[in-house]
Amino acid sequence: MPTDRAATTALPTALRRIVGDAHVLTDPATTESYRTDWTGRWRSPESTVVVRPADTAQTAAVVAACADARVPVTPQGGNTGLVGGAQPSVSGPSVILSTRRMAGIGAVDTADRCIPVGAGAVLADVRAAARKAGLTVGVDLAARDSATIGGMVATNAGGVHVIRYGSMRAQVLGIEAVTAAGHVFRRWRPLRKDNVGYDLPGLLAGSEGTLAVITAVLVRLVVPARRTAVAVVGVNHVADAQRVVAAVEASGAPVHAAELMTATGLGLVGRAGARNPLRRDVPYAVLVECAGTPDLLAEVLDEQDRVLDAAVEPGPAHRLWAVRERHTEVIAEVSQTPVVKLDVTVPSAAMSDLVAGVERLAADLPDSPRPATPVLFGHVGDGNLHVNIVDVPRGRQDEIVDAVLRLVDALGGSISAEHGVGRAKRAWIELGRDAVDLAMMRAVKGALDPDGLFNPGAVLA
Ligand SMILES: Cc1cc2nc3c(=O)[nH]c(=O)nc-3n(C[C@H](O)[C@H](O)[C@H](O)COP(=O)(O)OP(=O)(O)OC[C@H]3O[C@@H](n4cnc5c(N)ncnc54)[C@H](O)[C@@H]3O)c2cc1C
Repeated sequence: MPTDRAATTALPTALRRIVGDAHVLTDPATTESYRTDWTGRWRSPESTVVVRPADTAQTAAVVAACADARVPVTPQGGNTGLVGGAQPSVSGPSVILSTRRMAGIGAVDTADRCIPVGAGAVLADVRAAARKAGLTVGVDLAARDSATIGGMVATNAGGVHVIRYGSMRAQVLGIEAVTAAGHVFRRWRPLRKDNVGYDLPGLLAGSEGTLAVITAVLVRLVVPARRTAVAVVGVNHVADAQRVVAAVEASGAPVHAAELMTATGLGLVGRAGARNPLRRDVPYAVLVECAGTPDLLAEVLDEQDRVLDAAVEPGPAHRLWAVRERHTEVIAEVSQTPVVKLDVTVPSAAMSDLVAGVERLAADLPDSPRPATPVLFGHVGDGNLHVNIVDVPRGRQDEIVDAVLRLVDALGGSISAEHGVGRAKRAWIELGRDAVDLAMMRAVKGALDPDGLFNPGAVLA
């Protein structure tokens, strides 16, 4: 999007008139935390302005002012995204529109099981409000204390319970958003079925700030299981982990989560204080959470000859979950070079090949400064693996990313399971998408945001 320097100089003044002086940040020291992503890999220029509207009307006015000044807008929620989607990288002036002040949480509708929330409401707060009414949000993830509902819809976040309740798109009953023309789009009826025309809320889910700024969401709620059981199960092979999950499912106990871990990951989180609950070393472990009692789960596991060892507890089993949830933070701390972080999905039958292929690719790298080590974990029930490779030699990062993503494509998978494309994977978006598919996506972008106002540089080149 071309920028007009004269208009840009005047933009902060126009924005201050809309949101007040305190909510337009221009000092690079103050904007630093907005301009840097969670991984530290993505940074926006110091000239980036941060604006924090209080409501939908202010958001619409901010978008209109930016459109007038021809300055691009990148929406940002909790800034926990892992693909650089919330960090504008344009060389000219640019605005981060932070939704964090739009954090209102309305009353739970127990009849239609939903809750109205501002886009900036944090997942943990929404879950706490739902819990008071005996309900919960179907999506949960380790970044729950910072990730916002708007950001989660914008990335179509997945998390640990997709196997049971689907991803964030499936939790959207209603949505309110500001379009590039500064209009307010609102579909806001608590209906489980509504087939009139195109599924525009579904389109905004996963649009990563490139089509509209989401300002509020009517979030579907679910009834939590009365009793859950959690097990960490040691196995020899990835396929054995999948068989254990299938056996639990076949027993009639609905599976709520199925998380793969490796000996390397268990060792790392163990050294960081989340002790491996298993009594012996195992090559792989799978955390299974299901509805039911620990006794029933233990009974199913006892019948599985592929189980090397198991620790079973009643839910919520924070001690067992900590072992899985500490992975992301610990990985970020141990690597001497920027971590190669990829979130991919493959058909279930290809999961073992993916793990073996990534291990081979890492082993082929030179040992500099230390041997590159894959730390693989993820939502094995959905075929979703988080590929992290630590200590990749400097200068070899792009090459290994390229090799892993091409391997995923060759195995019939997707280069982004749940984190999105952002800036990190934009160069590979053609993997798994043909020319017609890409042209349709570009047509949607062109129709909804003809001037390229929203989040240029993310998702589509
Ligand atoms: C420890 C940790 C664990 C995680 N685990 C998971 C996991 O299990 N599953 C998973 O899917 N993700 C996971 N993530 C990634 C991240 O939490 C999700 O992508 C989350 O949905 C991002 O929400 P956010 O509010 O932080 O969005 P941000 O990071 O602020 O933004 C992410 C993207 O959404 C856009 N956006 C944000 N808000 C809006 C809005 N209101 N309107 C339009 N666009 C918007 C931004 O432009 C950007 O492109 C994890 C992250 C961390 C740090």
